[in-house]
Amino acid sequence: MEEKNIDINLNIPTKIIIKNGAIEHITSYLEQYELKKTLLLITKGMLKRTTKLQILLSKKNHITKIIPYILSSNFKASISELKKVKNFIHNDNFDSIISIGGGNILDFGKVVAICIDKNIEPNFLVGKTIEKVEKKLFHISIPTTFGTGSEITKGAIIYDEYNGIKDGVRGTVMFPDLAIIDPKFGKTLPDNILRETIFDSFSHAFESIQSVNNNRFIDLIGHKSLSILNLTLDKYYEKKLDDSFYDNIAYIAFLGGICVCHNSTCLPHRFEQALSPIYSLSHGAGLSALYPEWVRQLEHHNVYKALPENIIKGKSLYKYTTDIIKKLKLTNTSNSLKSLNISPKMIAKRITGKIENDPLIKKEGSHIIEILSQEYLRK
Ligand SMILES: [Zn+2]
Repeated sequence: MEEKNIDINLNIPTKIIIKNGAIEHITSYLEQYELKKTLLLITKGMLKRTTKLQILLSKKNHITKIIPYILSSNFKASISELKKVKNFIHNDNFDSIISIGGGNILDFGKVVAICIDKNIEPNFLVGKTIEKVEKKLFHISIPTTFGTGSEITKGAIIYDEYNGIKDGVRGTVMFPDLAIIDPKFGKTLPDNILRETIFDSFSHAFESIQSVNNNRFIDLIGHKSLSILNLTLDKYYEKKLDDSFYDNIAYIAFLGGICVCHNSTCLPHRFEQALSPIYSLSHGAGLSALYPEWVRQLEHHNVYKALPENIIKGKSLYKYTTDIIKKLKLTNTSNSLKSLNISPKMIAKRITGKIENDPLIKKEGSHIIEILSQEYLRK
């Protein structure tokens, strides 16, 4: 493979701790940063699953006060939810926030952290890039699903029900201050969430490699992530879910997060955002529905970047990705697209964000979005 020139811009302002059992030391991290009062964003279901956290919360003698804010188990990060939390913490002396959960909760934590700034107006937040705020809560993000990489990225995908859009809030201020990655959480994941988040991790590495923006350093991380993913998929398939399986799941999610945070994502993520308010698939399941046709188009238009032989093992990109979808038992997800009651034109209208990062858009222009939409809806 031909080596690219050097054009690399690395920026990971989040302090990252990856450690088995890290969650048990959360109070010492809070004390280390001299935090006095923290808001704990967590869903009811997650709190139930985390006995260690329940024990911590029941002890009242911490230096840092931890105030739980319990979200419903089907919580979706949205502007109306943001307004509720903003009211809850209004004029109170919180100095920090812990978000613990899947990407949706971590993303929500990012907007809560900046909503205390007087210049942040929730109604005009979605779609904005914010590089500076006067006031912000120290944000500790703790992922429990290992897919999104949200704990180390500067974007938050939020649904704005007032304007009917789901899009990102992006910018340097969105990076969490501390990410605590505890692979042990993987063991508590339901099987479907595990499979769907593994696909999300895969997509982050894969799209960052395919992205117009890519560079040789991110390629290195992306390729590493994909080769560990191969081993992990084999283990999943053989039902050998040991400690190293969960370590690897957490690790590839982390590597995928670094990829996304530097190279952004391609069209599958733009489509997934556009469609998620109108279908019932999770982020990872939605991506698995969108992938085969996108990869087919990459190959058809000859705009794909080849993967190293030790990863792809003689397969076409299409065969390689559809095999991953098969191994993760996600082949039925595309039926949800076929049953959507929407025209290709309307799908294209819903697509927002940086589409120019996709190699298909670069070569074929934005009409490729309608072509893909037609294929997705084809019965
Ligand atoms: Zn994703």
